[in-house]
Amino acid sequence: MAAGIVSCGKDAAPVSEERFALGTLCRITVWGGGGLAPAWEAVGEAERTLSARDPSSELSGLNRSAGAWTEVSPLLWEALELALDLARRTDGAFNPALGAATALWGIGTENQRVPSPEELEEAMKASDWTSVQMDDSSGRRLVRLSNPAVRLDLGAIGKGLAADKAAEALASRGVESALLNFGGNIRCLGSKPGGAPFRIGIRTPFAEAQEYDRTVEVSDLSVVTSGPYEKFFIDADGILRHHILDGRTGVPASSGLGSATVVGDGGALCDGLATACYVLGEEKGRKLLEAWPGFEAVFLPLPEGIRL
Ligand code: AMP
Ligand code: MG
Repeated sequence: MAAGIVSCGKDAAPVSEERFALGTLCRITVWGGGGLAPAWEAVGEAERTLSARDPSSELSGLNRSAGAWTEVSPLLWEALELALDLARRTDGAFNPALGAATALWGIGTENQRVPSPEELEEAMKASDWTSVQMDDSSGRRLVRLSNPAVRLDLGAIGKGLAADKAAEALASRGVESALLNFGGNIRCLGSKPGGAPFRIGIRTPFAEAQEYDRTVEVSDLSVVTSGPYEKFFIDADGILRHHILDGRTGVPASSGLGSATVVGDGGALCDGLATACYVLGEEKGRKLLEAWPGFEAVFLPLPEGIRL
């Protein structure tokens, strides 16, 4: 390179943009050039496919088609395969069919409230993940909800899967260094300019947003945390009601944890595992993770004085 010519490689200033998507604030940062548009397109596609809240999403269409075999997109198929695998391995503690129960609690919406035991019982009858049937033997990806009351909710893996697809879109266009932060759900592509790993903070549960319990150094991996401090309200009895339900009972999980973080190669899997680990608690969570060598978890305790 001739003297005086400034390198436009990985040392160039990063390009960063924040947008509201997937029900949260999403930031994408790319080093070394390359536009962000392909990544945002992937996020948009994930939202149109997987959102349980948007009545026009593909998932909502599948929920309405209850009882009939329905052809689904490769992305929805991938999400369902992962979610059902986690449901099987956790005996339903992770439950992608919790839509009726999550809608009943409405945590994070204007309608959040504590449902009656009768309402919850009714919702749990419609939360039977074993009624999700998948069949691609004909070459088409077909899904059927044999219990027509079932409402799928893929909120526990959606952000991680979207981050994977957005990172893939960047990588396929030659981007080697990027950081995707979808509401604290982190996916790294490559390493920082110069080759150093990214330093990712793990929040102290219920502390200020920028207060970290520790940091982890990663390249090309995901770091995903699930915790009750993300969406919650305190009920009349002083009990904190949050958005991560025990998939077997439909009641907010209370395994004694302030958060569960999973670090590994795959945003969707880390996202699902973090939710599953939060519900299961540290001991069973660590057992679950043994099936994925190379994946690691950080479990942080619930601060004193918080009742779940
Ligand atoms: P996350 O923030 O990734 O832990 O996911 C929490 C979201 O996943 C909730 O807002 C619900 O939409 C959904 N969800 C809640 N409890 C469960 C569960 N036990 N299994 C699967 N999905 C769940
Ligand atoms: Mg999750």
